[in-house]
Amino acid sequence: MVSTKFEVDMRRRFAQVFCLLFLCLSAFGQVAPSYAAQNTSPVAKQASSEELPKLEKFDPSLIDKSKDPCTDFYQYTCSKWIATHPIASDMPSNSTSHPLFLYNQTILRDTLEAADANQQATGSERQIGDYWHSCMDESSRNAHEKMWLQPHLDEMASFKSKRDLPRVLAYLHLNFPAAWQGDENSSKSPVFGFGPSQDLKDATQMVAGIDQGGMALPALDYYLVDSDRFKDLRAKYLQHMQKMFQLAGDPSDRAASEAKTVMEIETAFARASMDNVTRRDPGKIYNKRSLEQLKDAVPDFAWDEYFRLVGAGSVPFYIVSTPGFLDAIEQQLKTRSDDDWRTYLRWWTLHRAASYLGKDFEQENFSFFGTALSGTPQMLPLWRRCVRSADSSLGEALGQAYVSVAFPAESKARANELVRKIRETLADEIKQLDWMNESTKKEALIKQDATLQKIGYPDKWRDYSPVKIVPDNYLANMNAANAFEVHRQINKIGKPVDRTEWGMTPPTINAYEDSQMNTINFPAGILQLPFFSGTADDASNFGAIGMVIGHETIHGFDDQGRKFDDKGNLRDWWTAEDAKRYEEKDKCIVDEYSQEIPEYGVRQNGKLSAGEDTADNGGLHLAMLALENIYKARGKSLDQPEADGLTARQRFFLSYGFSWCSDERPEAARNQVTSDPHSLPRLRVDRPLSNSPEFDQAFGCKKGQAMVHEPQCRVW
Ligand SMILES: [Zn+2]
Repeated sequence: MVSTKFEVDMRRRFAQVFCLLFLCLSAFGQVAPSYAAQNTSPVAKQASSEELPKLEKFDPSLIDKSKDPCTDFYQYTCSKWIATHPIASDMPSNSTSHPLFLYNQTILRDTLEAADANQQATGSERQIGDYWHSCMDESSRNAHEKMWLQPHLDEMASFKSKRDLPRVLAYLHLNFPAAWQGDENSSKSPVFGFGPSQDLKDATQMVAGIDQGGMALPALDYYLVDSDRFKDLRAKYLQHMQKMFQLAGDPSDRAASEAKTVMEIETAFARASMDNVTRRDPGKIYNKRSLEQLKDAVPDFAWDEYFRLVGAGSVPFYIVSTPGFLDAIEQQLKTRSDDDWRTYLRWWTLHRAASYLGKDFEQENFSFFGTALSGTPQMLPLWRRCVRSADSSLGEALGQAYVSVAFPAESKARANELVRKIRETLADEIKQLDWMNESTKKEALIKQDATLQKIGYPDKWRDYSPVKIVPDNYLANMNAANAFEVHRQINKIGKPVDRTEWGMTPPTINAYEDSQMNTINFPAGILQLPFFSGTADDASNFGAIGMVIGHETIHGFDDQGRKFDDKGNLRDWWTAEDAKRYEEKDKCIVDEYSQEIPEYGVRQNGKLSAGEDTADNGGLHLAMLALENIYKARGKSLDQPEADGLTARQRFFLSYGFSWCSDERPEAARNQVTSDPHSLPRLRVDRPLSNSPEFDQAFGCKKGQAMVHEPQCRVW
């Protein structure tokens, strides 16, 4: 989601992972590898808390009393805050969680600086210190970028004929992100994505997966839709690629024709790709193929050689997300010249290396992926880019220091308790559902009970000791960290699944549900204000983080999650009658969110956002019920005014709304509606509340008013 679009998250390739915020993978078009990490010596000194940025917290004085809560609750809660917090020139948006982003980054910066300054540092402390140094030393990056890039360009120049493709592609996949990852749209790596994938039919095992990829733009529409907006972006993309080739030393004429070649190849890949709504159906992306079948589909590509070079042993089968995509690879191999292919591979080298070179490359990359695509005028300051990069490359080494500063044991205990309460509420709800058969309820309860909840950070930290980090070559450091992670990922193929592993680093402001692992995961980074405080009142905590917890819990039962059983297997455990009733109920939500967004000139596809919207609606409802139960047990009413003049029920909704206050640049908002399954922040507030009778009760809203949707949709 845009308002907090600053973290880079990771997920396994087309794994069934559902995040709270935005695409699980992507930030300004640069996908940095995100490794969680492990056991060596934790790190350095702690940040001094007096220098940390102040976090936002809901306060009754922020309510805009000139607005009617029953007309537009988002404006009622957020307009005062938004009016006094303009979007910074280096961000695509501003939101009440942005101070938290800065807070988390400041803690990481202090840790990195201390590690860099400590001459005696060894182990992971030395690694993060050197990584930081190599990123922060701009003059060295400017002076040495050509030297750093040259070995990669030499490798591309060694591509003489298409027979070299497996070797050169394996090289790119090992050295640059993100072949083993995938998002709602595709893998963001040259030609295709390859990596471990949890077997949809046997969730205990990791198998090999091949995904559509080879496209640098965020989603298929950017290549295929003939609107003025997309045509304009394609023209800018061509200019951007031309400039990148020129920065690498090509004359401008040649660079222009190279850009055209890349666009043609990427467009051919887009035409053969599966769209992001179809990809939501796990059955559609589960296509078993033997090695022989891969060879039949793409006879001009030596699969054995590619697998050997990336370190993948032989396996009985591969899961191919889009079988038709393989035909497109063969077609391009057959029809494109060797020169065209070399150009395409060279583009991906420049594209992926740009953020790790000197200022011209980095700025040009940002001008397209940050400014043209997201409308952000300026890059973040260097230190913040370096913190983000270090978190991506050596995340669990840094995460240990973050947790020691920002996530005390009491916070962990209280967060665990909140999650437990909300899950108990879901179990009670399931028992009382009027649209589900008893046998299905039994299965739903078993699944709910089997879910593993993970709070804050991993029990066991990753060991980065094999990663060679040097103080004076930023690009090589990223390459080394990437290769380490790719090997670690590919090693998982053919082995049992590890449910305790985290897909996000501890300081990440996000949360996720993993339907195949059957886990819900809340990093320490989001267990902070404005979402949560170990000392806040229950209504505030349940309204903000409670909804987040409910959201992730409901993902296990949304349009995708419900297709997986307690063990994480893709298995239909619903009776036909239940499934039909579920679809009818969910259609209410799909219809409600299929809408024009006139201020941005785009239309939201309610089918793309259905899972997230269902989770928002259900999550909010669960959090409210859990709070009601607590008040009932205490013999107290949610509807009596308390010390601040608000009832607990009102504070619950205000705290919820406030945690989502956000203002986005139009480019960023359009980008999100097109490629991201999460609704815009203001819709994440107003739509679920308009479906909530408890909200009507809190603010006295009546049928016919804008905040009372007709009919009020409810699945969970
Ligand atoms: Zn979600």
